Amino acid sequence: MKSFKTSTSPRAKEIDLRSELNKFFFGASDEVAKGCFFILRRMRRQEGVIYPTTSSELQTCICKSSNHSGEVDKDYPCQSCEGEGYLFDDEIVVGYKTSRFEYQAVEKYTTWGKNIVELSFFYIEHHEAISRYDKLIEPLTNSEGEIISPVKILHKHNIHMAERFRDDCGRLSYFRISCFTD
Ligand SMILES: [Zn+2]
Repeated sequence: MKSFKTSTSPRAKEIDLRSELNKFFFGASDEVAKGCFFILRRMRRQEGVIYPTTSSELQTCICKSSNHSGEVDKDYPCQSCEGEGYLFDDEIVVGYKTSRFEYQAVEKYTTWGKNIVELSFFYIEHHEAISRYDKLIEPLTNSEGEIISPVKILHKHNIHMAERFRDDCGRLSYFRISCFTD
């Protein structure tokens, strides 16, 4: 059986994932920046909740809590929650998006390799807990990849899975966020 390496100074030779990703996103003398801006919509949690497991652990907007059906008006969304039904904070994050391809659905006899927008992965730098109630908003950009003004929403992605990637000593390097789109 192969034994594990137990070197006491593993950092000396290993790649620092966090700094590599940072160079990938923001560029360096030998690297062109590939990051794009996205908006992370973090739903506000109830006091003391870090990872909400049910929507009751979020801060419900008055428009939802005052409605007997508990529904929010999507056509004429309220100003406070923009129709989310929960209070939130929008944060600009830098990330990189990849899309999944439809070859995974060949049993449906659709065209092989056709790109679909419904499923995507986002690699982002973030240092707080992300939950499945949060959303990633993809703004409309120009051909240079810059966000146009006024900001327009191109896609709103629901988070299906937020995965933390860590490097040595458990330091958080980045998140991979798997999303599906309404
Ligand atoms: Zn509201």
